[in-house]
Amino acid sequence: MALMIRSSAIHAAGCYTTTAIRKGARVAEYTGHLITKEEADRRYDDSLLTYLFGLGDGAMVIDGHSMAMFINHSCQANCETEEIDGHVWITALRHIAPGEEITYDYCLYDGGDDDEAICNCGAKKCRGTMYSAAEVKSRKAKAGTPGKTQGKTQGKRRNNKSGSASRKKHKR
Ligand SMILES: [Zn+2]
Repeated sequence: MALMIRSSAIHAAGCYTTTAIRKGARVAEYTGHLITKEEADRRYDDSLLTYLFGLGDGAMVIDGHSMAMFINHSCQANCETEEIDGHVWITALRHIAPGEEITYDYCLYDGGDDDEAICNCGAKKCRGTMYSAAEVKSRKAKAGTPGKTQGKTQGKRRNNKSGSASRKKHKR
């Protein structure tokens, strides 16, 4: 399996495969330093761009430092993420042809009030945001609450999807 990074229509740079990938195959591991959520918040509270992947209940995150951090979000992704013994694998959901961009659904969570995480994936069923469906719902409920504070939760995202969690903040 061979992956390469090049410019992407979805967002800045993307990760592409030069070879065919069979359904179920591990495409890449999301590697990096393992740090606590608190440490991530401290490091990246003011950052516009982060590559963080929440593990388990979100108490620990991987501060991405590998090919996998270039993989873009798509609402109709060809891969999903799996957490196995503290390792996060990006696994093919279907057969992927050579030249295709590798994508997975970020299902972002717990983002800043002012960060809409707008999605440009171009999928037919694009939900317009990289937040998870559950997060969109809770953010809508929050927006209706008077007196909410602006920007206080920036950099914090939580995801309920199958125990794994991803968070990533993009430059707009
Ligand atoms: Zn989308």
